[in-house]
Amino acid sequence: MTRVFSGIKPTGHLTLGNYLGAMRQWAAVDQHRAEALFCIVDLHALTVDHDPARVRRLSRQAATLLLAAGLDPRLCTVFVQSHVDEHARLSYLLECVATDGEMRRMIQYKEKAAREQRRGGSVRLSLLTYPVLMAADILAYGADEVPVGDDQAQHVELTRDLAVRFNQRYGHTFVVPRATHPTVAARVMNLQDPTAKMGKSDDTGPGIVSLLDEPETVRKKVVRAVTDSGRDVVYDRESRPGVANLLEILAACSGGNPETLGGVYESYGALKRDTAEAVVEVLRPVQERHKELCADPGYVEGVLRDGAERARAMSRPTVDAAYRAIGLLPAG
Ligand code: ATP
Ligand code: MG
Repeated sequence: MTRVFSGIKPTGHLTLGNYLGAMRQWAAVDQHRAEALFCIVDLHALTVDHDPARVRRLSRQAATLLLAAGLDPRLCTVFVQSHVDEHARLSYLLECVATDGEMRRMIQYKEKAAREQRRGGSVRLSLLTYPVLMAADILAYGADEVPVGDDQAQHVELTRDLAVRFNQRYGHTFVVPRATHPTVAARVMNLQDPTAKMGKSDDTGPGIVSLLDEPETVRKKVVRAVTDSGRDVVYDRESRPGVANLLEILAACSGGNPETLGGVYESYGALKRDTAEAVVEVLRPVQERHKELCADPGYVEGVLRDGAERARAMSRPTVDAAYRAIGLLPAG
């Protein structure tokens, strides 16, 4: 059976981008057709300036939202990265396979390092090595597929390179995974800056729709989205990024196609109103379920406990095999 792994970082409130680019596919498709693992990758949240209590709170919230979005622990494994030691164990081995140059070429490293410096902070070494830990997350489980938004394509490519290199040097140990992306909304853009990805750790509030935003807040944000200087509604990501982003969001939320929808609207106002309503409707059931789950924190904790146990059992043999293959003496 195909094995699928993907993760989400507790670095902020989950966004519409996270939902449309990743979580929705996990719930609607992946958990039904594959042996799927979904991880709250909390170690990755420590790569940038962080508040310990907030990371803990956001980890719980992310777990609750994944379940609210439809992940079913009877169908898939939901767990927290730091509960399973194999991720950190394997990450070190992969650091011995990856190169410094490779890490410095990662777009996300360049962007996030520049942001940390702009904010007056220093760049943590773990931000540079982040993609290696991500490779470990994936390779530890022998995942065939990694369903992600398209901003993660470069990291999955690196994961493939590391898997192939390790296998060639030390003998076949890892499955070489591939990224999969949704056909629409694989990169939801910031509503206030449609040339930048909507990211949960960015600080431009009005450009980011959070999964827990009240309907009125969603409407305001969408209606105030920055559009382009033209008047007619056409789908063109290059010359009309603002309108294209709204059309993609609308298409993803209403089941249409962004090009076709472009021909349907005569004004930006109508497009924004319909997009806002479509988003509100998509978020409604997630928010309702989230509220129910918040009333039962013991359930979420239990899911994470079982998930970690399953994840440990699934990753241990591969990571142990990697230890042997690379030349470490077995503990006996
Ligand atoms: P951060 O700003 O901390 O990097 P993020 O919003 O980018 O947060 P991640 O935890 O890095 O979220 O990514 C979780 C998943 O959501 C990944 O599969 C990623 O590709 C996807 N994703 C993130 N942002 C978007 C977006 N704007 N559009 C589509 N998919 C996205
Ligand atoms: Mg990200």
